[in-house]
Amino acid sequence: MASDALSIGHNDTSGVLEELTRDSFRLLLPVTAAVVWAWAVAVLYCAEHYALHAYGVMALMVAVLWLGYRLHRWWLRPAIAIYLLGAMAATTTIALSFQGVGALYLYVVILPVAATLASPGAVWGLASVAAALVVAIGRGVYGLPLVQLPLPVTTIFLAALALWLSSRRLLTALAWALSMTREAQKSAALAREHRAEVRRVLKSLDEAYVRLERANEALIYAREAAERAYQFKAEFVANVSHELRTPLNLIVGFSELIATAPESYGGAILPNPYRGDVMAIYRSARHLADLINDVLDLSRLEAGAMPLLKEETDIGEVAREAAEMVRGLAEARGLRLEMSVPEGLPPVRLDRTRIRQVLLNLLTNATRFTERGWIALRIHAEQREVLVTVEDSGQGIPPDRLARAFEAFSQLDEDHVRQGSGLGLAVSKRFVELHGGRMWIDSKPGRGTTVGFSLPLAEGGSVSAHRRSRSALPHRRSELPAVLLLHDDARTLSLLRRYVDGCEFVLATTPEEARERVGEVFPVAVVVDASWPGGMPAVAEMGLPEGTPLVSCPLPSMRRFAVLLGADDYLAKPVTREHLAEVLARLPRPPQSALIVDDDPDVVRLLARLLIGCCPAAQVSEAFGGRAGLETARAQRPDLVLLDLYMPELSGYEFLEEVRRDPSLADTHVIVVSVRPTEESSVPLVGPVRLERGDGFSFTEVLQVLQSTLPVITRRSAAAPASAARRPTDRPGGPVW
Ligand code: ADP
Repeated sequence: MASDALSIGHNDTSGVLEELTRDSFRLLLPVTAAVVWAWAVAVLYCAEHYALHAYGVMALMVAVLWLGYRLHRWWLRPAIAIYLLGAMAATTTIALSFQGVGALYLYVVILPVAATLASPGAVWGLASVAAALVVAIGRGVYGLPLVQLPLPVTTIFLAALALWLSSRRLLTALAWALSMTREAQKSAALAREHRAEVRRVLKSLDEAYVRLERANEALIYAREAAERAYQFKAEFVANVSHELRTPLNLIVGFSELIATAPESYGGAILPNPYRGDVMAIYRSARHLADLINDVLDLSRLEAGAMPLLKEETDIGEVAREAAEMVRGLAEARGLRLEMSVPEGLPPVRLDRTRIRQVLLNLLTNATRFTERGWIALRIHAEQREVLVTVEDSGQGIPPDRLARAFEAFSQLDEDHVRQGSGLGLAVSKRFVELHGGRMWIDSKPGRGTTVGFSLPLAEGGSVSAHRRSRSALPHRRSELPAVLLLHDDARTLSLLRRYVDGCEFVLATTPEEARERVGEVFPVAVVVDASWPGGMPAVAEMGLPEGTPLVSCPLPSMRRFAVLLGADDYLAKPVTREHLAEVLARLPRPPQSALIVDDDPDVVRLLARLLIGCCPAAQVSEAFGGRAGLETARAQRPDLVLLDLYMPELSGYEFLEEVRRDPSLADTHVIVVSVRPTEESSVPLVGPVRLERGDGFSFTEVLQVLQSTLPVITRRSAAAPASAARRPTDRPGGPVW
C-alpha cells in the first residue's frame, strides 16, 4: 500500500499520510461493522431487554459507516470526523443505556482510532470531550460519588498521552523514511540518467574504436609505403653515391698526385699556375667526395643517427681552406674577400667536413647575394667558445623574411629562387647545433647581411688552457679521458672516434705498443678486440693500474676480412698515398715487382702511379680484368698483387681462390683494393662482449649496465632498415669487414 502511495508520486509527508489514513479508514469500516454486529448479536442473545438500544446503536453505526464510506474518497477528514463523532455518540448511547461504570471505559477505545486516523490535536480534543462526558454521565446519570470518577478520566488522558507520544514517534519515523525514499528516488533517477549517459559514451566509444581501427589500417598502409619509399631512397642514394664516387676517386687521386707527388711522373715539375689550378681541382673534388659522404650520412640522419667525426681541430685552418675555395668565385664577381682569422686559435672539437660545409655555404651565399663591395670572414675566440661570422655588403634580406631564414626550403628572395635549394642555412644550423653551438643571422636591406655561429671550445680548451697544453702528449689529441683500443687495424680507430663520444681513443696494435701507451696516456679503460694479437695474457702484462675497466668485444677489421678472403690486406677506395704506404709497410719486405688487377684502366693507372710514388724501385705490371690478371700473375710471379674485388668474367674472389690453389704463387702477397665494406652491417660480429673490472661492480653499476645494454641487444629487428642501404656491390650475406 505504502509503495503504491509512493509510486503515484506524492512527495510530501502529508500527502502520503493522507493516503495511508484513507487505506486504514477503508479497513476500519468493515472491522467496525463486524464489531458492532457482533456486539448487537451478543446483546440480543444475552440481554433481550436492551434490544431496542442495540438496534438504535446499530442503526446509528450503519448510518455513520455508510456516510464514512461514501465520503472517504473525496472528503476524508469530514468522513473521519463523522466516524469519530458517530463512535462517541454510540459509546455515549451505550453508557446511557447500560448504566455501568465499565461502559465509561469504552471511550478509551475511540482514542487509538482517533490517533491513527486524525491529528494528535484531535486525540486531545476527543479525550477532553470523553472526560467531560464521563464526568457528566458518572455524576448526573449514574450518581457516582466524586471519588470514582478520577480513574476513568485519568485512564482516558493517560491513553491520550500514550497515543500522542507513539503517534509522534511514528510520524517522525515516517518523515525520515519518506525523505530517505525521496533520496533513493533521486539517486535512482540519477542512475537512470547516468546509465543513459554511459550507453551514449559506450556507443561513441564503439564508433571511435571503429574509426581508430580504420585509421590504424591506413597507418599500416602508410607505414609500409613509407618503408618502401625509404628503402627505395636508401638504395637510390647508395647507388648514385657509388656511381659518383668512382670517377671522383680518380679525380681526387690524380689531382693529388699531380700536385703533391711529381716524382710519380718521373720528376717533371708543373709550372706554378698549373699546380695552383690542379690544387684547386683537388680541393673541390675532395669537397665533392665529402659531400657525397654527407648525402649518405643525411640518409642515416633520417634514420635517427647523425655520426659526427669530432676531432680537435684548428678552426682557422678550416676557415682558410673554405675561403680559398670561394676566393676564385668572389674575385670573378669583382668582390673583395677579407679575412680576419688570427693564428693560434684554441682547438675546437669539430667535424671538419661539416664545419667546412657550413663555412662554404655561408661564403657562397654571401658571394651570390652581393653585387659589389666585400665579403668578410671573421673568427675570434671568447672564454668558452669561438665565434665565426660571415658578413657581406650585399642586398640584405627584408625583415619580414628574415625570421624564415633557417627554415628548410625557404628562399627569401624571389629573384634567386632558381639559384639554390633553400636548404643551405637550415642544414648548416643543424650541423652547428649538433656541435653544441648556435647560429644567427642579421641583415639590413640594402646594406648587407651577417650570418654567424658559435662553437664551444674543447674541454679544457679555453684560450689560456690551450696555451698551456701546447706540449701535449704525441698520441693525445684532446683533454678527454683516454681509452686504450687494442686492435690490429688502425682504420677501426676512426670508426670508434666517429661513433663513440666523450672519450679519446688511443690505438695500440701490438702488446709492446700497448705497454708504451699505458705509461703515456694513463687510460681510464681498455677496449680489446677479441682477436687482438696479444690476447688477454698480454693485457694482463700491460701494467694497467688495478681496477682499470676492461671491455673485450669483437670489432670490425678490414685486414681480417682480407685474410678471410685469402688476401694479406685490404685497401678501401679512394686510395691515398698514406694508406698505401701504411699497408705496404706491413708486408715482410718491400715489393720488387707488382701487378695491378682492375677492370677500370684509369684506376689501374692511378694505382700504378701511387705505387711508383711509394716504391720507386718496383717493376709494375698492369692487367685489366681478373682472367688477364691471373695469366700475368702466373707468368710473372710478382711479389705483390693489388686486386679489385668486383670484375666481370673472373671476380677478385675467384682470383684469390685460384691463387690459393696455385703453389707457384705461394709467395705472392695480395692486397685487395675495393670499396669500403658497409659500416653498419646486418652480419653480426661473432663473439662475446665482456665487461670486467679488477675490483668488481656495485649492484647499482650492474643495474646501470643492464639498463643501457638490454635495449641494445634486444633491438636486432630495428636495425633492419640500415641493411637496406647496402651498396649493390656488396656481396649479399657475405662477411663484411
Ligand atoms: P639556398 O641554397 O637557396 O641559398 P639557403 O638556406 O642557403 O638556401 O638560403 C636561403 C635564402 O636566404 C636564400 O635563398 C636567400 O634568399 C637568403 N640568403 C641567404 N644568405 C644571404 C645573404 N648573405 N644575403 C642575402 N640573402 C641571403
